[in-house]
Amino acid sequence: MQESNSDIKAMTPFKEHDEMTHPMKQFGIGTRLTQMGRNPDDQCGFVNGPIYRGSTVLYKSVEDLENRNARFHYGTHGTPTIENLESAWTELTGAAGTVLSPSGLGAVALALMTTLKSGDHLLMPDSVYRPTRSFCANFLAKFGVEVSYYDPMSAESIQKLFKSNTTTLFLELPGSQTFEIQDIPKLSSHAKHFGIKTIIDNTWATPLFFQAHSHGCDLSVEAGTKYLGGHSDLLLGLVSANQETWPMLRQMYDSIAMLPGPEDCFLALRGLRTMQLRVKESEQRGLEVAHWLQEQPEVMTVLHPAFSSCPGHEIWKRDFKGSTGLFSIILKPQFTKPALAAMLDQLSLFGMGFSWGGFESLLIPFDCQNYRTATTWSPGGLALRLQIGLEDMTDIKNDLREGFDRLVKVQSNLG
Ligand SMILES: *Cc1c(COP(=O)(O)O)cnc(C)c1O
Repeated sequence: MQESNSDIKAMTPFKEHDEMTHPMKQFGIGTRLTQMGRNPDDQCGFVNGPIYRGSTVLYKSVEDLENRNARFHYGTHGTPTIENLESAWTELTGAAGTVLSPSGLGAVALALMTTLKSGDHLLMPDSVYRPTRSFCANFLAKFGVEVSYYDPMSAESIQKLFKSNTTTLFLELPGSQTFEIQDIPKLSSHAKHFGIKTIIDNTWATPLFFQAHSHGCDLSVEAGTKYLGGHSDLLLGLVSANQETWPMLRQMYDSIAMLPGPEDCFLALRGLRTMQLRVKESEQRGLEVAHWLQEQPEVMTVLHPAFSSCPGHEIWKRDFKGSTGLFSIILKPQFTKPALAAMLDQLSLFGMGFSWGGFESLLIPFDCQNYRTATTWSPGGLALRLQIGLEDMTDIKNDLREGFDRLVKVQSNLG
């Protein structure tokens, strides 16, 4: 135990990287994204860092071995490739430190394992990403963690749900598929008052559009699979921590040693360089298609944080720097599932599949009615979630318009 503790201390973030990142603090975020997590002087002058693969690290003497006197100790504790990504993310999120995970869900699990122990009580928003809900049911329950779900829009009354054993308040915004925007400053300050840790899943906004730590969150999770990767070819998760929570997070990470492979870290670092460009483009395209959809006679409601029809829209305006290209719509009540199948099965551009944040347009039907427990999901029509990709805008709209035409035609034939 003592030995691993001293390892952790030796790995406090921003030791060597301080020199590298500090002089850039005066630059804007776009500039910093081009600079962070790389150091050509250490890379034989090459712009990008190499991919380090490795388990064993050699020490020069018994004394060095016994004191772990080396820049890196062992592959599971970090490599230059991993550290480049960790330090870049730490800078981007304004955190005290970051650790990585082989998937976004793995990062969620790591964050929860950091703050919870047997006998604790966890509060989960009812709108949470569904696999996170499964992790609570299949893993946390087995280890004696009590989980309750709460209405994501109930920031005012959240204290009423705090119990003497509540140690963690989980936050996610916008709500998975349904796009509720939670009042993070209010929720996190209530939690802080009672010594409860907050974990946020900030995947949708990315740190570019929402700075979780400066809004009071202790741990922030990002599925790097989405906008950081940006090309539907990467699975990766990141957890960043504020100063107070960082030692706990690093210790849990070192205890389980579940880390992504070096090629995946490299892809994430590559994605980082263009993330702002892609996320901003995604915002513009998302807004254009969402506005267009609002005008289509088949659409009843647009659930997009930038629209007043979205629960928590005012909070989004107050706290966020932007929106991204993922949102949902509710169709008018007359449409039924067989007609919807005719619309979706013959789309020529939009793919049907999970995940998002890549270059291609995606669309899935969804229904949360059967598994929400603290709130009721009854939007009054069939629901679709869209991710707007980089195809030409005319082609995107034509694909959807032709789909709506099939929807209407098949519905009227069904009578
Ligand atoms: C996709 C996603 C995850 C999980 O990421 P994976 O890398 O697919 O495991 C977690 N949270 C949110 C909000 C997501 O969208």
